[in-house]
Amino acid sequence: MKNLKILFAASEVYPFVKTGGLADFAYGLSKALANKGHDIRVILPKYSQTMFKNYEESEFVKSIKINDEIYNIYSFFYNNITFYFVENRTFFERDTIYNNDDRDLQFTLFSDICLKLLKLIDFKADIIHCNDWHTGTIPYFLKTVFKKDEFYLNIKTVYTIHNLRYQGWFGDGAFRYLNYPIPESYVNFMKLGIQNADIINTVSKTYCEEIKTDYFGEGLNYELLLREDDLYGILNGIDYDEFNPEIDINIIQNYKTDSLEKKIINKKNLQNEFELDLNEDIPLIAIISRFTGQKGFDLIERITGEMFENNNFQLVVLGTGETRYQTFFHKLKNEYPNKVGLKIGYDEILARKIYAGADMLLMPSLFEPCGLSQLIAMRYATVPIVRETGGLNDTVKAYREDTGEGNGFSFKNYNAHDMMFTVKKAITMYNNDKATWKKLMKRGIEGNYSWHDSAVEYEKLYMKMINKYE
Ligand code: ADP
Repeated sequence: MKNLKILFAASEVYPFVKTGGLADFAYGLSKALANKGHDIRVILPKYSQTMFKNYEESEFVKSIKINDEIYNIYSFFYNNITFYFVENRTFFERDTIYNNDDRDLQFTLFSDICLKLLKLIDFKADIIHCNDWHTGTIPYFLKTVFKKDEFYLNIKTVYTIHNLRYQGWFGDGAFRYLNYPIPESYVNFMKLGIQNADIINTVSKTYCEEIKTDYFGEGLNYELLLREDDLYGILNGIDYDEFNPEIDINIIQNYKTDSLEKKIINKKNLQNEFELDLNEDIPLIAIISRFTGQKGFDLIERITGEMFENNNFQLVVLGTGETRYQTFFHKLKNEYPNKVGLKIGYDEILARKIYAGADMLLMPSLFEPCGLSQLIAMRYATVPIVRETGGLNDTVKAYREDTGEGNGFSFKNYNAHDMMFTVKKAITMYNNDKATWKKLMKRGIEGNYSWHDSAVEYEKLYMKMINKYE
């Protein structure tokens, strides 16, 4: 296979800045492709929140001047990938990463810089891989403006939709600021990505089908249907070096598939850390999530009280987001102090401890493009309980008593009692059928959800696109 030159443009990239799965994707896929010999460059803004221990080791690359403002680009080589950081105090060093009123301008500037940089460093990419609304304008800018320059003529774009709900609807101010042609009286960044990229994909096969429907299409299903022939679904992986209970330095006790009994030490530590009853037999359910309606918190809000009345279990919650859910979990913690552990915030290390210490992970999402938490949970031999949607549907198969198949628990309808029934089923198996429970743990930890297979799928997709236009 030909070695490709690829620029990944993303608003967040692990390990430098992460609020969700996009950061894991940008790092995990680029690392897997770099290890296969491709020339991978990743570009992201440098925020005040960027955690970059070795920033002083980064090298100054170029400056770009736009409307009297200077943008300095630095590069850093790490794990066979060249990362470019776009530095500008005015636009990127803010109190929050995403919740800024001028975010349209921030990410229009970022996208513009991604394209300009290519020529400045003479990197004739085969592919620019754009992600989510933040970089949805790149395929449009490339097509309408940059392709007039021969340097850009053969560059192809892939646009990955990680979450169709966040589209970036704005006025035309940012486009005016940068003198770009204005497509419509309003600008929908994601729609521009869908309309103009050479190939579009999303992060699971089920979500790829779902988003073509009114229910999941978020108003863009007709746009997607128009591009149906160029629309694919490729499941995300997780980085098996990063997420590995055998060597993870963030957890108290390492373990692997033939020493699963050691996992209990992590559970006891978790109970201790969250001041729960110290009891290794009580099932411990975890939630690690952004607090937003998408993740199924309405079901949890509706039924958790009833679940605690009728079942003996513990719940450990790590998350941050909408105030109403934070308030709900605070109340729940007050009501069941020995059964509920709560940490509001974003905490990568605590997340690892919870994945390692919990028995089950609950993820009853309303919709879920791929979902990484269930994959990480399985990697740590924690059994997932999910709703059958998007990537959850593609990765978690409900245990079937008749055939003995399955690696977790799932329910179909977005219904609180269906969820409760399913959680109860999991608790009952955990309490009464340790042998089958251990089988499920083993299927998780031994499952293959690494980036390897998905990276091969992406390679095929890139090649298909390159061959199509050559
Ligand atoms: P999404 O991208 O929609 O937030 P995913 O399941 O795809 O959901 O990815 C979530 C990622 O972010 C996982 O790696 C998960 O462990 C992590 N995560 C979510 N919330 C927190 C948190 N509060 N603290 C630490 N990690 C978190």
